[in-house]
Amino acid sequence: MAVGAGIIGTTIAYTLQRRGETVVLIDRNQPGRGASFGNMASIAVTEFMPASRPGVWKQMPKWLLDPEGPVRIRPAYMLRLVPWFLRFLAASRPSKLRELEAAGAALCGRVHEDLAALLSETGLQHMLSAEGCLSLYADEAEFRADCKHIKILERFGFRHQVLRGDAIRDLEPALANKIGKAVLFPDNRSISNPYKLVVALVEAFQALAGTVVRGDVVAFEQSETGISALRLKDGRRLEADRVVLAAGAYTAGLSAKLGEPIPLVTERGYSTQIMAPGISMRHSIIWPARAFMVTPTAGGIRVGGTVEMAGLDAPPDYRRAKVLVKRAKEALPDLTVDEASEWMGHRPALPDTVPVMGPSAKHRNVFYATGHGHLGLTYAATTGRLMADLITGAKPPIDMNPYRVDRF
Ligand SMILES: Cc1cc2nc3c(=O)[nH]c(=O)nc-3n(C[C@H](O)[C@H](O)[C@H](O)COP(=O)(O)OP(=O)(O)OC[C@H]3O[C@@H](n4cnc5c(N)ncnc54)[C@H](O)[C@@H]3O)c2cc1C
Repeated sequence: MAVGAGIIGTTIAYTLQRRGETVVLIDRNQPGRGASFGNMASIAVTEFMPASRPGVWKQMPKWLLDPEGPVRIRPAYMLRLVPWFLRFLAASRPSKLRELEAAGAALCGRVHEDLAALLSETGLQHMLSAEGCLSLYADEAEFRADCKHIKILERFGFRHQVLRGDAIRDLEPALANKIGKAVLFPDNRSISNPYKLVVALVEAFQALAGTVVRGDVVAFEQSETGISALRLKDGRRLEADRVVLAAGAYTAGLSAKLGEPIPLVTERGYSTQIMAPGISMRHSIIWPARAFMVTPTAGGIRVGGTVEMAGLDAPPDYRRAKVLVKRAKEALPDLTVDEASEWMGHRPALPDTVPVMGPSAKHRNVFYATGHGHLGLTYAATTGRLMADLITGAKPPIDMNPYRVDRF
């Protein structure tokens, strides 16, 4: 039984079913309508740096004072965030950061192999772009500010190429002349439509005789041998011999019901899908100093990013999406915003950035796959592979210790 038909739960369900298990995938909504719907579609293998690194939290006071800054904490939510934030600070010790970088790099180093296998098994290779991502810098000062990131990538062997002046516009003619330097990350590819990827994987799962159930899981029944059934909001009861909880940012509510709290919050993010952008792009772009991303996706281009800490229930504040589009126009002066739709999603965020993937420490037949933060799409195929190994008793190809649920 897998709870949550986002990219994570769906990939796990598909991979298990393909290995001959009988899987039921449950979601209270249609598959792929959560965080996996409108994300930035990037297979961002070079973006595994812990959010708790000093380069981020040292800038936090400045960012928080700027209403258009890349991180916003709604005042009403501040107090509730304190326990999470203390853990975030604990994850910023230099020795801890080295561990977290290695845990992220171990996953990212596997991503293309696992993704290629998943896409070729399902006939979905066409969904993966051929082009990489350009990281943009207006000047040397901006580039120097990002050099630590690049040094870490070099340490782990991720490819990149530094470009200057016209070489940048040769690759991406829509970019403004004010972009003086760029780094090409050829392995940061993108998915043509992340929502359609979930839908296609659900179809592949069903074609292998996997079952999809619409239902809101609200409680668990326990027997001597572990969790024996799930209770749904409408009163239905589903018997289960093993349960995978992959409900994105909502997994914390479910794990709490099992007496196993996970320090998981939502890092809300925004995107704007523009179907008539007036420009065409082949690469995705990020501009670290302006904290936004643009990806050619879903038949147009998508602009997004930002972190808003406001909990699961507060209404979206689409001014944050508009700020990102305004910034994107600095890099892409001919961008027009026609046929645009705005979206907000809940990144499932853990204070140490590394996802939880593994067995429950309390219940024999429960597994967790959550907390993928900014990289759920990137990590999905690898998560499916690793979780299927753990659940079927095969030996995963990497040490799973850094991802255990009881590490906090
Ligand atoms: C603006 C933005 C941009 C992003 N860009 C990228 C990117 O470029 N690359 C990348 O790799 N990642 C990106 N991410 C992150 C990525 O989208 C997430 O990490 C990923 O989608 C999480 O997938 P998930 O399956 O864990 O969660 P979700 O997609 O949220 O799925 C969880 C599912 O669980 C269901 N559910 C919840 N509770 C219950 C319950 N009680 N009973 C039944 N069902 C339940 C929900 O309905 C939902 O369908 C971005 C996120 C945002 C917000």
